[in-house]
Amino acid sequence: MEVMPGVHQILVDYKGRPLKLYLLMGARLRMLMDFGEAGTPEKNILPALTTIGVDPASLTHLMATHPDLDHVGGIHAMKAAAPQAKVVCGRADRLQIETPEGLADLRGRAHYHWHGLGMDDAARAAFIERAGGAGKRLTIDTTFVGDETLPWDDHGDARGRRVEILHLPGHSHGHLGVYLPWENAAIIGDAVHGTANRFLDGRAAFAPTYMDVDAYLGTIERLRAMKLDQLFSCHWPDCRTPAEVEAFLVESRDYALKAEQAIAAVVQVAGEAGVTLREVCLRAKPALGDWPPEKDSETRSMACGHLQRLAARGLIREHLERPVRYVWEPHWLGLH
Ligand SMILES: [Zn+2]
Repeated sequence: MEVMPGVHQILVDYKGRPLKLYLLMGARLRMLMDFGEAGTPEKNILPALTTIGVDPASLTHLMATHPDLDHVGGIHAMKAAAPQAKVVCGRADRLQIETPEGLADLRGRAHYHWHGLGMDDAARAAFIERAGGAGKRLTIDTTFVGDETLPWDDHGDARGRRVEILHLPGHSHGHLGVYLPWENAAIIGDAVHGTANRFLDGRAAFAPTYMDVDAYLGTIERLRAMKLDQLFSCHWPDCRTPAEVEAFLVESRDYALKAEQAIAAVVQVAGEAGVTLREVCLRAKPALGDWPPEKDSETRSMACGHLQRLAARGLIREHLERPVRYVWEPHWLGLH
């Protein structure tokens, strides 16, 4: 589907959830954003390029918006199909994208050592397979930190359109998106999460998975301040009017603020005994969402982010044992 002139959206059914990949086709910029997991290029992307009438050999850039399996697992296969294309990603995400092992250990196992949540060794090995296979190493041509531009068309002068790179941290530290000024539209990957990750039929699949809460809220407010006409993401409904953009962003912000209250309440009620991250995910669930129980531990990313934020304000204390315990401070003792 061509969602804007020269911007194609490739819809993939990813485990019953929508995964929308974007192909930007300007006269000079021919960039694919995100790649699914290892099998997605062969199964979905290359057939879609054929349908659209694009030769992979004509692609100029492959942009990894952020390090998650459903976005970068297919990058090695895609680079093999388009070896001339430059691989670009956010600077802070580079190590997680360069190798399947980096993705598994720095991203997939972010909550493994301290909280005992995430992949065991067998699951890690299967994950690495789906991320391109053990021992693969990608050459990242350019890393972006935001505010760079890429030429869209052939005009080298003031008439020339340029795509602007957006740094949208929160879900990952280096998360990227793009802004098309002539459309006043942004394509933001997974930078903003609404109230859940959802199945194709709309049911909740698992919790939002932002990690750094302050950065996430900042990203939402930055996007609101842009007064966009349209906003496109990888898993959430397309926002085709300014009102839809604003509603989605406000709903996402309000969800995060409410989630923090619910998580703080869980820690407070536990008293001196404290709670682990796993217990927070389970006990706060009634206030957070109604995804299937087997996905409860996916709440760890955002729950850990909120706990870190509460600890940074001196409201709770972290006990660095394994698993980490969080204890409510009965009296505020200041910042630590
Ligand atoms: Zn995703």
